[in-house]
Amino acid sequence: MSISGQESALHDQPNTFTEPPTLQILNTVPLVDGELVDSLQSDSDVLQWLAQAGWPVAKESSNLRPSTLLNAARKLREMIRTLVERRKAEKRLDVSTLNEFLSESRSYLELATDKSGSTHLTRRWKRRTPEEVLAPLAEAAADFLVTANFDLVRPCESEDCVLWFYDQTKSHRRRWCSMATCGNRHKVAAFRKRQQSTA
Ligand SMILES: [Zn+2]
Repeated sequence: MSISGQESALHDQPNTFTEPPTLQILNTVPLVDGELVDSLQSDSDVLQWLAQAGWPVAKESSNLRPSTLLNAARKLREMIRTLVERRKAEKRLDVSTLNEFLSESRSYLELATDKSGSTHLTRRWKRRTPEEVLAPLAEAAADFLVTANFDLVRPCESEDCVLWFYDQTKSHRRRWCSMATCGNRHKVAAFRKRQQSTA
């Protein structure tokens, strides 16, 4: 999957996330009441997450040993987190662990024609091991590290938040993971402050 805005002949399932999957996977561990809470708690959570990212997983993965997918997903996520944080801080990247993950990927292209006669390409992944199931994410993260504009990759400015976003606004002045949560909290706090100072 490519970063939105980039044209690709590859026909993927739509990604329903508002952020690129590379950041969205980091955001599966939000800060709730001051504590980090992992929203990935089972293999099915991981499968559901992959489907939302546009990589639905077929039946093969049901043959995986329980929790192996969850453990591999958490391992990959923390690997990506280190790389994103270091890339953001303009530090040298140790790419060996992600490369190991990438080397497990087995994929091929498939041509398909729909009823209207138009032809498209879909990348298919083998999904016999947890690493193979997670390969689309590992590949997207590798692509993101290379192609994303890291000036626009930013953590939410709220002190009570650890979420990341990719600022695709025109002005590039986005500050919050979401206006509905952190942006609104900030607005309310600023309003109260103003009221207090005029009281
Ligand atoms: Zn936030």
